[in-house]
Amino acid sequence: MSKSPVTIVGAGLAGSEAAYQLAIRGVPVRLLEMKPLRFSEAHKSPGFAELVCSNSFRSSSLQNAVGLLKEELRRLGSLNFRVADEVRVPAGDALAVDRERFSAAITDELHRRPEIEIEERVVTTLPAERPMIIATGPLTGSELAAEIQRLTGEALYFYDAISPIVEADSIDLSKAFFDSRYGKGSPEDYLNCPLGRDEYYAFVDALLAAECVPSHTFEEPKYFPGCLPIEVMAESGRDTLAFGPMKPVGLTDPRTGQRPYAVVQLRRENVDGTAYNLVGFQTKLKWGEQKRLFRMIPGLEQAEFLRMGSIHRNTYLDGPRLLGPSLELDGSAGLYFAGQITGVEGYVESTAIGLLAALNVYDRLCGRVPLAPPATTAIGALLQHVTVGPLSGAYQPNNVHFGLFPALENDGRYAESLGGAGKRGKRLRKSEKRALYSERALADLEAWLVAQQLARSGADETQRSTLSTTTIDQSVRASRTIP
Ligand SMILES: Cc1cc2nc3c(=O)[nH]c(=O)nc-3n(C[C@H](O)[C@H](O)[C@H](O)COP(=O)(O)OP(=O)(O)OC[C@H]3O[C@@H](n4cnc5c(N)ncnc54)[C@H](O)[C@@H]3O)c2cc1C
Repeated sequence: MSKSPVTIVGAGLAGSEAAYQLAIRGVPVRLLEMKPLRFSEAHKSPGFAELVCSNSFRSSSLQNAVGLLKEELRRLGSLNFRVADEVRVPAGDALAVDRERFSAAITDELHRRPEIEIEERVVTTLPAERPMIIATGPLTGSELAAEIQRLTGEALYFYDAISPIVEADSIDLSKAFFDSRYGKGSPEDYLNCPLGRDEYYAFVDALLAAECVPSHTFEEPKYFPGCLPIEVMAESGRDTLAFGPMKPVGLTDPRTGQRPYAVVQLRRENVDGTAYNLVGFQTKLKWGEQKRLFRMIPGLEQAEFLRMGSIHRNTYLDGPRLLGPSLELDGSAGLYFAGQITGVEGYVESTAIGLLAALNVYDRLCGRVPLAPPATTAIGALLQHVTVGPLSGAYQPNNVHFGLFPALENDGRYAESLGGAGKRGKRLRKSEKRALYSERALADLEAWLVAQQLARSGADETQRSTLSTTTIDQSVRASRTIP
């Protein structure tokens, strides 16, 4: 294994985790962090792994994809989640921490490790050293962002505009109908929720009265014409949405044989059709308001939301266009990205992608092809999101949710008990289904860990592939479900 150091830029949630994972494997690391020389608009304290807003890592329950992701990270030996468990504060179902102690413990650990050399430096040009992991987060320093943009062109974004995603099972198909506008493309790609005249104006009036999340001082409310929040569009006239994202043209409601007054279109988010996003519904409404309002839409009265809409400042790459399956920038050997800059959202998700980037770099240093975690695990599902992306439509950052996972119904291990492969047979309660997703994920994670151990012990590819499901370089891009 090469003994030249791995350079990591950014000691946030992802960079700290990556540095630790490499260090405990005996790899020298040079960790470059701009604090305390310079602080982003959201960072305030000089310590590493700073939680810039909430002190919560969200739900601990395995009924929730983020609870599952944390459990997987613990099993993968995450520093962030060992420390989080040590400094947790009571918060019901959530894992919340004392943020000062959290950051201090991680900072101490990284300073203590002889393999890690820490340098306070505002990185303004891309260092030439390789391998290098860029983990500079949603508020990457402007000069470095410009450098990254020189390499990636239009595919680096500075604002996200995210529309909500709902669970397919929670959409009322007695009201919503499948069809593509003007019959173009496959009808299964879109579900349409039709609104009559009164329903449309009631929705618009409620939208105009709803409460939005206030912008941070560093977030100018400057929107691209194609990504205006729905509430901003509605302010320009009560009919605007009916000529914009809610236009009904090219669609006929099969129940009435008529064109509806307005339509909310939902686009299929994944191959298995378990999740749909509300097309053009990017919004800054508060989450509670989004749920209340979107459940006014016929067909969405019982909607379960996998992701809520949002718009914030966020530096992120179009991962599926730019990143290889091991998180390496296409065409730039040895240059890896990790954390929120890859298009994940949140402390836990950023930690996961930091950990994964480190494992990939380590495998490469050892001359091995990295093994991707199965897409049935939460960490593998996130990797799929970042490197493969949605079925269609623009790439939008995502938090972890079960809509990113391959459907149980299409998995040979579960298909029979659920009514046969590909069918929506036995209808499980939501809690039963979520328990099965987590059970499958943890079993597949264990198999992946065994496969990695075999790889380290020099087992050949055949032995490894009987246990692991995907070899990164071969099939992550092509395959969305485990073979
Ligand atoms: C205002 C705001 C509120 C948020 N609230 C929440 C929340 O409540 N819950 C949640 O889960 N997530 C929240 N997030 C998202 C969360 O902050 C990120 O998901 C997470 O911190 C990303 O981890 P990261 O390691 O990718 O980046 P960060 O944790 O941001 O770490 C990046 C590090 O890189 C350093 N850096 C940046 N540029 C340079 C440079 N040029 N040279 C050297 N060092 C550099 C920074 O100083 C920082 O230490 C919020 C984000 C913002 C901006």
